[in-house]
Amino acid sequence: MCQVNLKSVDQVWDHYDRYKESLITNRFFKHTEVVSLINKHTTSGLLNSEKIGQSVKGRSINHLTLGSGKTKVLLWSQMHGDESTATMALFDLFNFLAADDEHNDLRNLILGSLELHIVPMLNPDGAQRWKRRNDLEIDVNRDARMLVTPEGRALMNLAKKIKPEIGFNLHDQSTLYAAGPNQNTATISFLAPAYDYPKSMNEVRKSATQLILTMNNALQTKVPGKIAKYDDAFDPRCFGDTFQGMGISTILIESGGFYADPEKQFIRKLNFYALLNAFVSIAEKTYASQNIADYQEIPENSRSLYDVLIRNVSIIKEGIQFRTNLGIVHSQIKGPEYGSMSYNGRIEELGDVEQTYGYDEIDASSLTFTPGNIKLMQKSEWEVLSPKQEIDLIRAGYLFIKWTDGTSPSGPLNARLLNLTNKENNTIQTASIGQQAQFLLSRDGKPVYALLNGYVLDLTKDVTAVPNVYGY
Ligand SMILES: [Zn+2]
Repeated sequence: MCQVNLKSVDQVWDHYDRYKESLITNRFFKHTEVVSLINKHTTSGLLNSEKIGQSVKGRSINHLTLGSGKTKVLLWSQMHGDESTATMALFDLFNFLAADDEHNDLRNLILGSLELHIVPMLNPDGAQRWKRRNDLEIDVNRDARMLVTPEGRALMNLAKKIKPEIGFNLHDQSTLYAAGPNQNTATISFLAPAYDYPKSMNEVRKSATQLILTMNNALQTKVPGKIAKYDDAFDPRCFGDTFQGMGISTILIESGGFYADPEKQFIRKLNFYALLNAFVSIAEKTYASQNIADYQEIPENSRSLYDVLIRNVSIIKEGIQFRTNLGIVHSQIKGPEYGSMSYNGRIEELGDVEQTYGYDEIDASSLTFTPGNIKLMQKSEWEVLSPKQEIDLIRAGYLFIKWTDGTSPSGPLNARLLNLTNKENNTIQTASIGQQAQFLLSRDGKPVYALLNGYVLDLTKDVTAVPNVYGY
């Protein structure tokens, strides 16, 4: 048998930008865009599309088929509406499979060996409002038994009809999971779901495990240490567990977080690469040589990250001075038309944080938590503040502005740093759980770091402008 060598799959990674679907630039695309991309690929003849159902709000659920091979593979994405990373990657894969370039041997292998069945964006109503559940407020991935959701029924009927050998259940997970108890993000997590409570192993689940090992090996070359495995407790309500029991080797892929990738565009590329490796391995049956004992080596998901962790900072509270750790989380706030996201950086934890880490960490053992002062100025003065003047105000200890002419607004304004506030006092209170993380870390009374809405600004560096940390 003539095997496509892995180097050629790796070259596709280098050429990924050729295939990246340019209509999708962030996580918040909707059913309309998905339908227009499906139309592009049916018109070109790459794939066939049939409607296999409709969402609660009447949006089409589409089953796409391509390839003429023997092995049937079913992939579905976004059964949770706010988990869109893999949907993006599926459209990148279609562009790859439709192209005509030096990778023809690879795409011919895939299309000649596999019969791909794909349901992108299974829960379009959830995607429309950027929420997990469908519009009956049911979690579609807890509906494999009762099948009260039209989305879940469409998927189950399709699986029973085509009887695939292999299934890919494509999701996103919290960006605050680590791959084991360390600072590595769980950028991709895998699971070969159990099909019974004792978590038995049979040939069906074994194949899923071996495919995970194949994808893990590939991904480790791109994001070493940032791959984890999901808890394998059996849940008969879930589609993955149910399909495994129906004889479909089912793999759960969860896209997590990666440093400075809030729109998950790099993780999208990792999904593309993992699935491409899986397709090649299924076509050539090479996954069967993986030793499932190696699955134990993949670290478990660990809920141990903060967006920012400040270690050993001195805080004065209730008249008591103490040193502790301070964890900050950037919680998401949905934007207009559910087409964007802004973030509220707030203090999530004070205290001991054993085996807990941050995307950003600050060793504050020589630093003191310092509340920001309020600068009083007229609105007209604020409007003409230059970036340098904003930075100078921060360096002088001001993190808030109050307008003196009675027009103080209630929220942040366009991309301007200093959070507007109506507070009467001229300083903000000390560190409190739930409070917006807007304060200074000082040494000998001099600000060293500014925390602005939970984002770190290092004042020891040559900072010339304040980043837009409000997302407006
Ligand atoms: Zn999910």
